[in-house]
Amino acid sequence: MKGRVIQSTGSWYHVDTGTELVKSRLPGRFRLKEEDVTNPIAVGDYVEFEKNEDGTGNITEISERENYLTRKATHGRRGEQILVANVDEAFVVQSVRRPKYNEGFIDRFLVTCEAYEVKAAIIINKMDLAKPEEVEDLLDLKHMYEKLGYSVFLTSIEDPDSLKELETYIKGKTTVFIGSSGVGKTSILNGIDEKLDLQIGEVSSYSNKGKHTTTFARLVALDSGGYIVDTPGIRELGLVNIEAYELSLFFPEMIEPRENCKFNTCTHNHEPNCGVEKAYQEGEIDPGRYHSYLQMLDSL
Ligand code: GDP
Ligand code: ZN
Repeated sequence: MKGRVIQSTGSWYHVDTGTELVKSRLPGRFRLKEEDVTNPIAVGDYVEFEKNEDGTGNITEISERENYLTRKATHGRRGEQILVANVDEAFVVQSVRRPKYNEGFIDRFLVTCEAYEVKAAIIINKMDLAKPEEVEDLLDLKHMYEKLGYSVFLTSIEDPDSLKELETYIKGKTTVFIGSSGVGKTSILNGIDEKLDLQIGEVSSYSNKGKHTTTFARLVALDSGGYIVDTPGIRELGLVNIEAYELSLFFPEMIEPRENCKFNTCTHNHEPNCGVEKAYQEGEIDPGRYHSYLQMLDSL
């Protein structure tokens, strides 16, 4: 039988076949085949399994992952933990204020998604709090990111149309919402699907009791089809190891200009005959994006 792992609790994997949920185990020989990863099966994995007489399952095969998001392993263990696999789209959620959106955060998120090969999109929530001149700025920001290929949603929980647009967009997909607490992630998801409230609440109270110190992600099915990745406590994705000279590969607008750099290891911040800096001087690269690039370069 085939299914998708939607939750993992200790040594049990909850496999959703579309018609039933089968609690399954992984035979010992499968464990930790990949050395740099601490969990052999991740939420989001597509698996094959055999059903036992008692109704539980034995996982026999894991399909190759299209992509996955990780975070650093906890409890001082080495390596990375796969947070979730096979993600169709990751959203960075920010708000107009309380807390105010941060372009550096957005750009770090976009770079991380590019590096993970996960499609990324942006939500700016609490649009009802924006003053008219701020709306102008946010529309400019939206167009700037859209030109780079990222979808941007300007939402407010007071504006059902804005949520409807988002709902239509995520229908049938596996999506994850990342952002600082208070930006409105829970409110948006509740606005899209009322029954998510209860389900997401359950996980938080479960983890708050401290029963489970390692909080795994899980997939929560949407009424309209598709899944929301519930990632308790994940505000930011771990940035994968990126070499300084590679960073610009994850800025779509720098891919072409960097072809014109004199050195192929150019980091575009001090080198002579730099194609990226030239493109920036000529106004082809957004100053905010170039600033984010330099800041990220500094932090590598
Ligand atoms: P989360 O921590 O990202 O899940 O954020 P919550 O959904 O808990 O929202 C944090 C606070 O922001 C709550 O008081 C919400 O009522 C409020 N909030 C969420 N969305 C909006 C919005 O679109 N407009 C306004 N004005 N407040 C919002
Ligand atoms: Zn350069």
